[in-house]
Amino acid sequence: MKSLLVQKFGGSSVADAECMRRVANRIRQDKDDGNDIVVVVSAMGKTTDRLIALAREVHADPDDREYDQLLATGEQISISILAMALHHLGVEAVSMTGPQAGIRTDGSHTRAKITGIDPVRVRENLDRGRVVIVAGFQGLNPIADVATLGRGGSDLTAVAMAAALKADRCQIFTDVDGVYTADPRVVPSARKLEVIAFDEMLELASLGAKVLQSRSVEFAKKHGVELEVLTSFERKPGTLVKEASDMEDVLVRGVAADKNQAKVTLRGVKDTPGVAAHLFKAVAEAGVNVDVIVQNISEEGETDISFTVPRDDLNDVRKCLQSIENVEFREDLYDDTIAKVTLVGVGMRSHTGVASSMFEALAERNINIQMISTSEIRVSVVIDEESANIACQALHTAFGLDQAPDS
Ligand code: ADP
Ligand code: ASP
Ligand code: MG
Repeated sequence: MKSLLVQKFGGSSVADAECMRRVANRIRQDKDDGNDIVVVVSAMGKTTDRLIALAREVHADPDDREYDQLLATGEQISISILAMALHHLGVEAVSMTGPQAGIRTDGSHTRAKITGIDPVRVRENLDRGRVVIVAGFQGLNPIADVATLGRGGSDLTAVAMAAALKADRCQIFTDVDGVYTADPRVVPSARKLEVIAFDEMLELASLGAKVLQSRSVEFAKKHGVELEVLTSFERKPGTLVKEASDMEDVLVRGVAADKNQAKVTLRGVKDTPGVAAHLFKAVAEAGVNVDVIVQNISEEGETDISFTVPRDDLNDVRKCLQSIENVEFREDLYDDTIAKVTLVGVGMRSHTGVASSMFEALAERNINIQMISTSEIRVSVVIDEESANIACQALHTAFGLDQAPDS
């Protein structure tokens, strides 16, 4: 049966000319099977990292507009090279930048949100039997400047394009063959999952599993986009991400570690009504997302407050606390050697005891827990970064996620 497929190829899948030729071949096969195909590509290999380093060589804090202008070029190289590789195989294909494909964003450079897609040109070209190749990670903002969607943003381009075109499926091709119970590069006994619930994938993605960008999962759930993660290196089924309603509830589906975290501690905070409100309002106004928060029991009118923030935002928080009004404290401490390790599973909704078994497994490895946070379907702990990989492996085994040794 003829389907409309949106296929996204990540940086490692299009790293060099040979990879491009392989991807082009795979697209040709799906096209020859009678499918309509829109391709979304990332920048080749580590291009985006290299562009960021280049910008920093000339300015420590580059202008956001120019930064986006620069970063968007990475994906533009990929689209034209892939179009040429398809032409070489005799496949009709046309490349489009995000703006040419009708992708509109809001005004926030470097982490813009997609506000709408008007895919007229994409449709026209599909109707002419062409493969349309769209640059991931970019769109046009309200003042007609190019804006980028945040790291890993090509996943979001693909999902949003699939929703706008009402595609039959959005396929995310990457360098692993699906979503695993843990990062297979950290936990060698991790198992590939056939299916995972949107809510579970969302927690894993926002808590460190970079196999899918978390906003793309959120978007797919909201718009009912059928999402599949699979390898671009072989033809075999990957992992389907879908609603949990028709899935078996498992207690723990997976483990994730987020090492891009830092902890801020304020010692001797004057414990008066409104102090937390002032503190977190100021941090929010600095554009920083706070995650786990712990406040100690107050003694003699003073308390300690600790919270976690993305590591890249630590300097912004430091600046913000140096000039904060209405919050008095004795000392501010910053620790950028922590990690957050999380267990996720929809089955936790109806079972108890996951947290205590988790703490026990960590205690057995002598891993000290600094902070704890839970939701309906996850338990997270903040620990020393050095212990993060051991913690993932220990929890993976303790919750029976290891694959059978002979499989
Ligand atoms: P791409 O360049 O294709 O976007 P990414 O590097 O963004 O690829 O994501 C793929 C990587 O995600 C894998 O190489 C793997 O190391 C990592 N990863 C982390 N957690 C998981 C997980 N639970 N399942 C699969 N891969 C994971
Ligand atoms: N090239 C961008 C990045 O490296 C977007 C993406 O790959 O999804 O973050
Ligand atoms: Mg990615």
